Amino acid sequence: MAFVPQGTEAFSFGGAVRVVVVMRPEATAEEAAAVGARLGPGAVAVPGRVARWVAATADVQDMPGVARVVQPRHAHQLASREMAPAGTVVHVGPVAVGGGAAVVMAGPCAVESMEQTLRAATAVRAAGARVLRGGAYKPRTSPYGFDGLHEEGLRILAAARAATGLPVVTEVMSPEAVPLVAEYADCLQIGARNMQNHPLLRAVGRAGRPVLLKRGMGATVGEWLMAAEYVLAAGNDQVVLCERGIRTFETATRYTLDLNAVPLAKELTHLPVLVDPSHGTGRAALVPPLALAALAAGADGLLVEVHPDPAAALVDGAQSLDPEAFARLMADAGRLLQALGQPAPAVAAN
Ligand code: PEP
Ligand code: MN
Repeated sequence: MAFVPQGTEAFSFGGAVRVVVVMRPEATAEEAAAVGARLGPGAVAVPGRVARWVAATADVQDMPGVARVVQPRHAHQLASREMAPAGTVVHVGPVAVGGGAAVVMAGPCAVESMEQTLRAATAVRAAGARVLRGGAYKPRTSPYGFDGLHEEGLRILAAARAATGLPVVTEVMSPEAVPLVAEYADCLQIGARNMQNHPLLRAVGRAGRPVLLKRGMGATVGEWLMAAEYVLAAGNDQVVLCERGIRTFETATRYTLDLNAVPLAKELTHLPVLVDPSHGTGRAALVPPLALAALAAGADGLLVEVHPDPAAALVDGAQSLDPEAFARLMADAGRLLQALGQPAPAVAAN
């Protein structure tokens, strides 16, 4: 019978909690295959640097090549905290996300031009952001809205990386686009609307790039973690979660930023958790206080929309900070983290 500790049923999805068999790094393909044969036809092989199996039960502890058998507490087996109790560090270019100083990713919602992107990149770097965020492919509610510059936008992001040294994160919306976006980007963003696009999750799981996985606006924390599980099951453990607000009865703000999700996700998974107060509130004035609250709640960093001229932004201007407001937020974040006894947000090396 599956092992389901009391109080975790909400995250067990009907008790389908299995065991994970982790092979030694030096285990041979033959040893892994022998373990798979003993586990039986229901066992799922997880590709990756270290071979792993997810299985219903495992009596393989003593077989050659087996490092350990882990009993995760949750249905998001590979993402479950027990798999890496110390927490996973995700490497976005040279930047380490998780387990240390908070990392701020910032930039315009949409890449609009070379000039706009370079201005934004220079400003966010000067204020202490470590990663440039900008959209080349934008999911828009209206089919007539500006949906990004596509490959030209990717080229602009690469130019901004070359000019500033900041690695870039950008959204990919379809499995077919993954190879092209992965060629340019240091990290692949999965947007809220695509959180349960399983072919896309599998494709980014195979792309060899870290993934920033936004929570769907109608998704529970359990569903969000199961979406991460898809990426991990495809062989990619480099996943950063991002809480970006959920739909509630409240319409005065664009979404309701769910800060409960931050310490909860940190308890349930070893993956780093960022917060996006820009989409979470939809209003620039509310972004700094919610950004600070997110850090106080234990977020591993922030995703903040910054535009050199928010009034002229083609997308999401109302929630975008101008460079001055962003610099004030970064200074406040440094003071807050210091007061909490945590390292200030890491800044880019000169
Ligand atoms: C965005 O990051 O600009 C975006 C579209 O976010 P989300 O997918 O969270 O709506
Ligand atoms: Mn946006």
